[in-house]
Amino acid sequence: MSPAKYVYFFGGGKADGNAAMKNLLGGKGANLAEMGKLGIPVPPGFTITTEVCSHYYANKRQYPATLKAELNKAIGKMEKLMGMNFDDTTNPLLVSVRSGARSSMPGMMETVLNVGLTSKTIPGLIAKTGNERFVYDAYRRLMMMYSDVVMEKAAGIELAHGGGIREQLEHEMQRVKNAKGVSLDTQLDVNDLKTLCDSFKAIIKKVIGKEFPDDSYEQLWGGIHAVFASWMGKRAVSYRRIEGIPEEWGTAVSVQAMVFGNMGDTSATGVAFTRNPATGEDVFFGEWLPNAQGEDVVAGIRTPLPLNKRTKGEDQAAVQSLEEAMPALYKQLDGIQQTLEKHYKDMQDIEFTIQEGTLYMLQTRVGKRNGQSAIRMAVNMVESKLIDKETAISRVKPEQLDELLHPSVDPIAEKKAGVLAKGLPAGPGGACGQIVFTADDAAEWAKQGKKVILVRKETSPEDVHGMHVAQAILTAKGGMTSHAALVARGWGRCCIVGCGTLDVNASTKTMSVNGKTLREGDYITLNGSKGLVYEGQLSLLPADPEHNLWYKKLMTWVDKVRRLNVRTNADTPKDAAQAILFGAEGIGLTRTEHMFFGPDRIGAMREMIVAQTRETREKALAKLLPFQRDDFYGIFKAMAGKPVTIRLLDPPLHEFLPQTEPETATLAVELGITVEALKARISQLHELNPMLGHRGCRLGIAYPEITTMQARAIFEAAAMLTKEKIKVLPEVMVPLVSTLAEFKHQEVLIRNAAALVMKEQGVRFKYLVGTMIEIPRAALTANEIARDAEFFSFGTNDLTQMTFGFSRDDVGGFLPYYLESKILAVDPFQTIDQTGVGELIQMGVERGRSTRPDLKVGICGEHGGEPASVKFCHRVRMNYVSCSPFRVPIARLAAAHAMIEEKAKTAAKKPAVKKAAKKTKAAKKTAKKAAAKKSTKSIRSIKSMKKPAKKATKKPVKKGRK
Ligand code: PEP
Ligand code: MG
Repeated sequence: MSPAKYVYFFGGGKADGNAAMKNLLGGKGANLAEMGKLGIPVPPGFTITTEVCSHYYANKRQYPATLKAELNKAIGKMEKLMGMNFDDTTNPLLVSVRSGARSSMPGMMETVLNVGLTSKTIPGLIAKTGNERFVYDAYRRLMMMYSDVVMEKAAGIELAHGGGIREQLEHEMQRVKNAKGVSLDTQLDVNDLKTLCDSFKAIIKKVIGKEFPDDSYEQLWGGIHAVFASWMGKRAVSYRRIEGIPEEWGTAVSVQAMVFGNMGDTSATGVAFTRNPATGEDVFFGEWLPNAQGEDVVAGIRTPLPLNKRTKGEDQAAVQSLEEAMPALYKQLDGIQQTLEKHYKDMQDIEFTIQEGTLYMLQTRVGKRNGQSAIRMAVNMVESKLIDKETAISRVKPEQLDELLHPSVDPIAEKKAGVLAKGLPAGPGGACGQIVFTADDAAEWAKQGKKVILVRKETSPEDVHGMHVAQAILTAKGGMTSHAALVARGWGRCCIVGCGTLDVNASTKTMSVNGKTLREGDYITLNGSKGLVYEGQLSLLPADPEHNLWYKKLMTWVDKVRRLNVRTNADTPKDAAQAILFGAEGIGLTRTEHMFFGPDRIGAMREMIVAQTRETREKALAKLLPFQRDDFYGIFKAMAGKPVTIRLLDPPLHEFLPQTEPETATLAVELGITVEALKARISQLHELNPMLGHRGCRLGIAYPEITTMQARAIFEAAAMLTKEKIKVLPEVMVPLVSTLAEFKHQEVLIRNAAALVMKEQGVRFKYLVGTMIEIPRAALTANEIARDAEFFSFGTNDLTQMTFGFSRDDVGGFLPYYLESKILAVDPFQTIDQTGVGELIQMGVERGRSTRPDLKVGICGEHGGEPASVKFCHRVRMNYVSCSPFRVPIARLAAAHAMIEEKAKTAAKKPAVKKAAKKTKAAKKTAKKAAAKKSTKSIRSIKSMKKPAKKATKKPVKKGRK
């Protein structure tokens, strides 16, 4: 067996890897290999696999024994292609060392550039380039990065806040600039840089206690070690947690020949997107800087320039785009970006460098985008036949729809308000909140339930935890590709960057702009779509997806693809109407208890509760009936013939009675009974465990007249609309059933009411009687319950509560500990626990349908709008999910994703089944031959052959959970 391969080479139009090898080579490594294969100019290099990362952590940070030899061989190949040698005195090759996980983690892990500059190689590089300034500039950059990344962070040294080596070196550089009276790095001459390099060495020695390494190979291995170590760094761990990236993936390391964008005026560097990632517009979009290295563009140290004339901002007429400054190179770059987008069939985020008039591509990856642009790009790409509709649907994440449903600043309020400052519109939408100046403060204030806007000079990956909890991010520096912009866009967060007029002072916790000073806690409002900042709280408008034509088109495709229907939980005609606008196909849950709290009803409700006899109770119920009938009439009318599930009264009666002394006294007067009598009734209703007490169908069983009144109100409303020739489809739902007998008891009452109303009103209409499945026993005995119930709706709030034995109302007391210590991966009240609760659901569906094959099944717990749970509901073949109106579009999209995934799985299984069938034939032949020999040995072998063959031809496991 050949030894494992740990190093994959690329360059010279060839590559060991390709784009499909992301798991092994990381996104960056895989795409560098692919670009190399496409003949795109990529500096040669190699990628050390993610398996080395796993080995590194499994073996006390040691490398596989064969890695060194492989790496040296790859360096030899690079040297040959570049015509330069690593660690050479006359013609030295420098390299970059970069991280690259499967899925991109912008800025979360480490990079070291210019590796290989030492006292041995520096003179040779100066002689070769004839540019001493360039060499010392590269050297000071290497020292800044290396001391920070390798000598401090990877070594686990924790310097006091603000005293990190990088900050100290930056401080020193600023001191030299101030002494010289210049503001830009480019204004430092060779002597300044030489002196700076000497002082850098002294500072490093003093702060870290070690010399800066003067050996090319020591630098290279130090860089590799730092990248692997950064996988478990604080920033990367916190980003992974937020993004749900598994720890086991590990990172790859790419080592690549350095090319320089800072070799003078014919050199440049830039970052670009094949489409505008903020709006989705199909226009080549990006930023560049002449005579600079990549970090200058991303870090916001210098303000980058627009790439082309078309994307210049209003106030950028005077600045030179790359298109104007270097037209031929721009044309070449434009050609490459088109090739890349066509090849990858998706928007690419690319990095390039121009070294003395030659263009090199350093990176391509699928570009991050916000929800609005994700939708627009997906639809446009279908229209231009780049992708098919299902691919377009898969490209939009359900959470991204959420962004579209986010608020914007009210334009009328905006017109009246004076603009405080203007920046670049990095993340669209509106946000309003209190200013905080550090990520830690943002996290702390958000914990207290405050809405904050994080204001920084510029953000760094250390700020991600604060950025994540902020309503919006505002930075004084940086461009559209700065850290803040990239991260905010990935999360669909409102964000404004490069707001140059802001003077942000994090130590005094103030920001000044145009003579005004704002302090921590002051309110500001951001219009992230236009880059405008306002003082104070401006009103925000709810999102309006209905006017987004790309969204509407995408959703028509979504609806064609999905199998699962999507309904809404709505208790009022207004909510129902809103949900219809969002595409709801019916109501999956109307909770009737909310209807009794109105000031005009609560009196009659309480009268009913304290009633001592059936007669007086019926009298009170008769007062409630017209109200209920009106409620149902309004909802049925809004739903215009779509199915409407109405659940009978569910909560314990004591919830309707007052809890305090004065309220009790007032109510006693209103009800015409003594305070003592009322108190006695309240105490009679008191329960130790109300959630497991007298609620749900148990109410209707103890007081059948409640069920009769509600059923009558439903059917009278249905009769009225039928007479008006408006279609109705009521589905009456009995809550909290655990036995068939309970259901039957209620069903008789409901059907009697229906028959009576139809007779009285002289009309006929269809209706169904079904039940909620929210008690484990109901799921276990679903085959019995389905004998009478015409539909099931899984009440996963209660089902989760009762399966785990976690009180829905008290879970907050211990759940944070469970999540922190990973006893639970997610909150089961948000995402269905597929292994436990899910098992009951699947059992319930299957057992129910074993009795009644056409049983209609849905879900109406909170999980009905959560994407992972929606997919689960699809897999267990429910008919519909039901969720709050604003989650309806998300559920529609998640349902389409589920269908697409199911199709892909089936397609992937088909050839396997064929293959297996072939194998079975072959196995049978061999078996026959073997049997002919009639030896005991051959009999054993027949048996052992038959078994796997049988396994292989077994039908694919029934669609459902895995
Ligand atoms: C449920 O239990 O999931 C449900 C929808 O009912 P409720 O939340 O009203 O108890
Ligand atoms: Mg319930």
